[in-house]
Amino acid sequence: MATGSRPLLPVAPGVELGGTSDDFFQLTEQPKRVAVMGAGYIGVELASMLRALGSSVTLVCRADRPLRRFDPMLGIALGKEMEASGVQFSGSTLVTGLTRTQGGITIQTEGEVLSGFDCVLWAIGRGAVTQGLGLEAAAVELTAEGRIKVDDFQNTSASGIYAVGDVASAVALTPAAIAAGRRLSDRLFGGQPDSKVDLSEVATVIFTHPPIGTVGLSEPEACQRFGAENIRVYESRFTNLYYAVSDNRRPTHMKLVTLLPDEKMLGVHAIGMGADELIQGFAVALKLGATKKDFDRTLAIHPTAAEEMVTMTRHRQGRLDGGPQP
Ligand SMILES: Cc1cc2nc3c(=O)[nH]c(=O)nc-3n(C[C@H](O)[C@H](O)[C@H](O)COP(=O)(O)OP(=O)(O)OC[C@H]3O[C@@H](n4cnc5c(N)ncnc54)[C@H](O)[C@@H]3O)c2cc1C
Repeated sequence: MATGSRPLLPVAPGVELGGTSDDFFQLTEQPKRVAVMGAGYIGVELASMLRALGSSVTLVCRADRPLRRFDPMLGIALGKEMEASGVQFSGSTLVTGLTRTQGGITIQTEGEVLSGFDCVLWAIGRGAVTQGLGLEAAAVELTAEGRIKVDDFQNTSASGIYAVGDVASAVALTPAAIAAGRRLSDRLFGGQPDSKVDLSEVATVIFTHPPIGTVGLSEPEACQRFGAENIRVYESRFTNLYYAVSDNRRPTHMKLVTLLPDEKMLGVHAIGMGADELIQGFAVALKLGATKKDFDRTLAIHPTAAEEMVTMTRHRQGRLDGGPQP
């Protein structure tokens, strides 16, 4: 079973006046006034891209910051950067209906009316594709979230039926789906009975403007798991050298989340120019169990953004709320 996931839509009259990320890729003309509903990674990527192309963009974000599943530093810094780029934020949450008038699409919410859009994009989450497959008849169980339930080896609850990718995994990323499929075929057909995918410390990039690179635990996750008193956080804010002669100097933020007493690296988070390309190497360091001392022993590449990762000194105790705003 590898049927993937599909975009979720709310239940409200006129919902079909909006499209999804699938429809976004079918656009033949650039929309001028866009509302993106939802501020997860797909929503912020679509909003960032359309704004960079010159569209007027309203991002409807129900939390106090975008990307609330990621380290708070990332979402707060991204929100500020998106606002500076001209993206308008709306906190309206419960949509009660969409209508089309001559002036464009109007979105009614419980709090306010947003109007004048020529494109509305739903990015409120994705659900596993499990319907119509006869899973009940085959006794394939689902999780509370609606995904196919699998163990570490991709076995479902039904003997001889396996599931990989978005339909079964909380890590909904292409490399995670591919790796799960490869490890499973190695196990079933390649003579490797212990082969299984390791979905810990998966690095990911959010392709916003600026980009985000992140791997490992966020500060709140680390504090929950190990206790805030055992977490030490290093932070840095600087301007990439690229902007040295520019009046429009965009900040870069970085954070290292470490576990005392030996400051084992639990999480590496960055937003700013170059964050997308630098995170993969730090994911290797995390997988190898690197400590802050290992980072410090590594001589920096000057002048790059990544050098900041191995020269940070300012630290504080971890906080459940993710620390002061960047
Ligand atoms: C807008 C967007 C941006 C993304 N960006 C990234 C990114 O930058 N990096 C990243 O790593 N991941 C990204 N992802 C996530 C990534 O696309 C998924 O994690 C990945 O595609 C999951 O692979 P999969 O094989 O499980 O499912 P899918 O790629 O969804 O493939 C499932 C396939 O099964 C088919 N199918 C469904 N039902 C049936 C059926 N009954 N019979 C036969 N076939 C069926 C579908 O048509 C589809 O072809 C993004 C996702 C979206 C929506």
